[in-house]
Amino acid sequence: MLTDKDRIFTNIYGMHDRSLKGAQSRGHWDGTAKLMEKGRDWIIDEMKSSGLRGRGGAGFPTGLKWSFMPKESDGRPSYLVVNADESEPGTCKDREIMRHDPHTLIEGCLIASFAMQAHACYIYLRGEYIREREALQAAIDEAYDAGLLGKNAAKSGWDFDLYLHHGAGAYICGEETALLESLEGKKGMPRMKPPFPAGAGLYGCPTTVNNVESIAVVPTILRRGGEWFSSFGRQNNAGTKLFAISGHVNNPCVVEEAMSISFEELIDKHCGGIRGGWDNLKAVIPGGSSVPCVRGEHMRDAVMDFDYLRNELGSGLGTAAVIVMDQSTDIIKAIWRLSAFYKHESCGQCTPCREGTGWMMRVMDRLVRGEAEVEEIDMLFDVSKQVEGHTICALGDAAAWPIQGLIKNFRDEIEDRIKAQKSGRVSAVAAE
Ligand code: SF4
Repeated sequence: MLTDKDRIFTNIYGMHDRSLKGAQSRGHWDGTAKLMEKGRDWIIDEMKSSGLRGRGGAGFPTGLKWSFMPKESDGRPSYLVVNADESEPGTCKDREIMRHDPHTLIEGCLIASFAMQAHACYIYLRGEYIREREALQAAIDEAYDAGLLGKNAAKSGWDFDLYLHHGAGAYICGEETALLESLEGKKGMPRMKPPFPAGAGLYGCPTTVNNVESIAVVPTILRRGGEWFSSFGRQNNAGTKLFAISGHVNNPCVVEEAMSISFEELIDKHCGGIRGGWDNLKAVIPGGSSVPCVRGEHMRDAVMDFDYLRNELGSGLGTAAVIVMDQSTDIIKAIWRLSAFYKHESCGQCTPCREGTGWMMRVMDRLVRGEAEVEEIDMLFDVSKQVEGHTICALGDAAAWPIQGLIKNFRDEIEDRIKAQKSGRVSAVAAE
């Protein structure tokens, strides 16, 4: 189990002073200019050696992403954009950083922007996060007043401005190119890639979009060294990570733990166990609503990292938003609810997603009631495969995967319900 001395987020529960003074007393903003003095290449190399993979869900190596930014400007400015549009159902980790530990993020923005030669950074905040905006803006104002932002930020010689932009509540604006469109004042619709943001991002300029947690861990990684960070977790899955555990556990929580912790340890140590005991565990969505669910019996020994969950269980770590469901759950209805969510949030730009999400939701709706033919299960699976990988952005995949996970893992339950409906045996049919 991770010990307190190795925790990056020292005020995640808001028990201490979140002001600049409080943050400084916990070691933040300590020697920031000295870290920057070591230069851009040193920072990027250190981030590479830390093994940090993006914490927004995709898990792309952060240092490598930064290295795609141009070393020399061709006249266009470079930008860092922080994706704080945390909207994936089940995910509530960045929220805790912004409202309780905002200076970790602000200091990270300065250092990361410097490493990418950006004089300006935008934080794009989820529309519903009003209190988070207030906390973050107060912290930004404090940092400006203390000379940590603005001209010669933190006496580093680097001029740096940080802007907070509040979104309007659309899930799709968490997709990086839709986010950029929205930031530019347009409709939040994903762009075709390429060009990738590092070539032409915000206002057509080189841009890196990073998740809040990915940026907030940067100062501590640099202060303690990439090797320290990579000493946690398995190879290729390094570091500490915020897990957000919700659902049928005794104490749902957000907790920073070492990557590759076992699911059992995570739940028993931090969440007081599964509601009703381990035998009562039915299913787990281990990485936010878009990853496939896993049967409870396969999760107990699971290793909570990118590679294990993908390779061994056909699911994913995603945002590490762990949704736990016990035997009382109507799993078909739970997945239907996600289908309804993705249908609602589709931007409608591409046909497989616009039409497919609605079609899948309507079939799921009938499966909840058992009013379908058994053959339709395969048909639904086939259609989900036609949506997956055939759309402009990953929302198509996000809509397809939960359904695929349901069919792979709980086909028996779907069939039972259809048979029960046909025979008039209502006990297996979901409650309305
Ligand atoms: Fe829009 Fe869906 Fe296409 Fe993404 S996949 S661009 S959300 S229609």
